[in-house]
Amino acid sequence: MEGCRVDTLAIHGGRAVVDRHWPNWPQNTENTRRNIAAVLESHRWSISGPYRGQASWEERFGQAFAAYTGAAFCVPCATGTSALTMALEACEVGAYDEVIVPGVSWVASASAVLGVNAVPVLADVEADTGCLDPVALERAITPRTRAITVVHLGSAVADLHRIVAVAHARSIPLIEDCAQAHGARYAGRHVGGFGAAGTFSMQHSKLLTSGEGGAVITDDIRLMRRLAHLRADGRTLAAQPPGMDEMMLVETAEIMGSNYCLSEFHAAILTAQLDMLDEQRALRHRNAVILDSSLISLGFSPQATAIGTTARTYYSYVVRLPQSIVDAAGAERFARALAAEIRLPCKTMYSALNQNRLYKPFSRTRFALGDGFADAVDPSRYHLPAAQAFSRSCIALPHRMLLADADAMAHVAAAFEKVARLVAHLRG
Ligand SMILES: *Cc1c(COP(=O)(O)O)cnc(C)c1O
Repeated sequence: MEGCRVDTLAIHGGRAVVDRHWPNWPQNTENTRRNIAAVLESHRWSISGPYRGQASWEERFGQAFAAYTGAAFCVPCATGTSALTMALEACEVGAYDEVIVPGVSWVASASAVLGVNAVPVLADVEADTGCLDPVALERAITPRTRAITVVHLGSAVADLHRIVAVAHARSIPLIEDCAQAHGARYAGRHVGGFGAAGTFSMQHSKLLTSGEGGAVITDDIRLMRRLAHLRADGRTLAAQPPGMDEMMLVETAEIMGSNYCLSEFHAAILTAQLDMLDEQRALRHRNAVILDSSLISLGFSPQATAIGTTARTYYSYVVRLPQSIVDAAGAERFARALAAEIRLPCKTMYSALNQNRLYKPFSRTRFALGDGFADAVDPSRYHLPAAQAFSRSCIALPHRMLLADADAMAHVAAAFEKVARLVAHLRG
């Protein structure tokens, strides 16, 4: 009788393929605890608190992250969404402007555009990477296009070579949404440095995290000054330290801002976590390569990345299911069954933005800018066949799976094999 249980899916009461504990995410370390304690004792918990005789953690993290990415400047901020908002506003995107956004991403890539009263124009993606398709991008450009946002999605880097060429030829600022790609490199250079600005999120699930957090990188000193003012209500940090207990933020008022400041606690956590990023990246990559070859031989298609990617990152391990499985059970049922086998949450990809339940331009009255606006932002006016197919047929596994030892990858592959073999049981 026991033998039969092997052929029962775990979601139907069978024995799970995996009985191990996976590595935790985020990772609590001694350095992280020490940095947090240092903030507590410093009596400066924000850059808007009085100067206490040493550089803020916010400046320290900004410098460390600029050095890590090879950017001239880094302005830390509260979230990835505020990073996008600041980057758009720094590029002078505003009311009635159009911003091209890829058809598959986390909702913030598009909603941040609405947040600055601009119109997100959804463009289709490449079938194998799920990232912005340079041909679709070119077609989506109009005289009102004021910026292009490209997203490095899941485990992919977008085709920067062609996208940068399109943006450059039309003199349209390019913003790279790198919320899922800390550590990724293209043509030897860190992502985020190929356009006007690169934005990052340090939210809990991301590859570098302080729970919530964000940053914008740029090589352009004028943009950097705008970003700095936008994040601190029109103030920026003084070039020279002030006297003890005086304010380091100066009211230069070059531009009116908002408060998107990263707290000293978050900056201190990020400073410690950044030291582990390369090692974690290498481990995830090693395991992903092992898993790729097992899954390809089973008929699955791991997400592709642009040719020219020189360091690959895995915010999620994205796999396209064979069409027979999509037809037989659908990605959602497959993901749920797989999750039960490996004891890790496995999800379907984000719905394409024209069909995404979180993307609701009409639910916030602040975005209404007159008659044409409602039509311009209506998601149902888009037809995004590649984005929709990508969303329908791909599943995403969490990156902490890839921090396990190499043996664990064989168990994950065995779980894919089991669920695929018993896919007929998932119907109904
Ligand atoms: C997470 C994410 C964001 C938003 O970042 P938050 O820190 O959650 O505001 C934006 N774009 C992409 C692609 C993301 O994955």
